Amino acid sequence: MSGNAPLDRLRAQRMLEQLESLQGRGTELVSVYVPPGKAVSEVMNDLRNEWGTAVNIKSKTTRKNVQDALSKVMERLKLFKTFPPTGVAIFAGNIASDQLGVGDMQTFVIVPPEPISIYYYRCEHQFLLDPLFKMLSAKDIYGLVVIDSKDAAFGFLKGNRTEMIKQYSSGVQGKTRAGGQSSRRYERLRDMHLNEWYIRLGGYFTEHFRNVPGLKGIIVGGPGPTKEDFLKGNYLHYELKDKILAEIDTGYTGPEGIKELVNRSREIMKDARYYDERHAVQEFLRHIGEDDGLVTYGEKEVFQAIKGMNVQLLLISEEVRRTLFKLKCKSCGAIENRIVDNDKVVEFESTLSEVKCSKCGGSVDVLGKEDLIEAMVEAAEAANIKVELISNATEEGEMLLRSFGGLAAVTNYRTF
Ligand SMILES: [Zn+2]
Repeated sequence: MSGNAPLDRLRAQRMLEQLESLQGRGTELVSVYVPPGKAVSEVMNDLRNEWGTAVNIKSKTTRKNVQDALSKVMERLKLFKTFPPTGVAIFAGNIASDQLGVGDMQTFVIVPPEPISIYYYRCEHQFLLDPLFKMLSAKDIYGLVVIDSKDAAFGFLKGNRTEMIKQYSSGVQGKTRAGGQSSRRYERLRDMHLNEWYIRLGGYFTEHFRNVPGLKGIIVGGPGPTKEDFLKGNYLHYELKDKILAEIDTGYTGPEGIKELVNRSREIMKDARYYDERHAVQEFLRHIGEDDGLVTYGEKEVFQAIKGMNVQLLLISEEVRRTLFKLKCKSCGAIENRIVDNDKVVEFESTLSEVKCSKCGGSVDVLGKEDLIEAMVEAAEAANIKVELISNATEEGEMLLRSFGGLAAVTNYRTF
């Protein structure tokens, strides 16, 4: 794992797209989801049982394929002493190909970016991928808090899903005192209790939000001035202060208030979510505008710049769907790259005999093929280059794809 969350996510996404296109001839593609905390031995036992049950499958071919797939999964499982902190998903099966009767036994292992919450085994015509697709679509996490002097509600927004964490009540009395108490004493006591409430709130913020990977920001709401008083005071952990995106007035507190908060802050969250992406493309465009020569774009040019250690910031559109072929000339041995759109790959491979070496015109062999983005990212990581993945959700992202082919770089020195 590179430890780069957006890239890990994109890789998982690409792998799922690839798996989605695969079919078994019979009900024979095996999917296994293991949540964190399971013992390897327990999962092995369950799969051994499934292997035994598969004896009852009527079709001889299907039976053999299912058992082979289960054996492959168990082989992979044996490589784990314990499972990763997010669990693991393993897929195996005999992949149907165009040539009748010729199948290809393949195994795929995915360590997901977030914990798997289900434990199951399935055997179907296709791999079962929904749980992972759903996980990946829940991209960003926001903290949500609604407070007033009486209570507080904490929640998350994960993708489009709102999740309540916990509610607390302050125990602070209302502004109007009961008869008989001295008004100054009442005020003083109330302030003291409010101060204690704010200190408690600060603790809850830390408890719920400080160690949340992928937390993009926190939005604080509530009726009245309590939220402002709390945020102005020195009650929040300094790391969380920087995460506060907005204070928003709501009519409600509690779960109703959280819902209201989500509805009122859509725009703010959208801005925060795409801030880094837009910022990166804008920097690229600024260099273009100033014509200072500190940019390059296009596959060949960008690869060249990476190779020459001349990239400061690499921009890759998530929408690029291309494959990089590494070719070797059969006559002169020269090695060269060819980049082909994914939907043209089959055609390219079937007409390989017409592809000629650009040096001597000889025919070529394929040394390897790889997803273009994957190849770019690997090269960039090896050279310690900062990579920003750009979605199509912003105008800047669309422009990167439309006008610059989806691949661009800010360079260290002039290239032209
Ligand atoms: Zn050649």
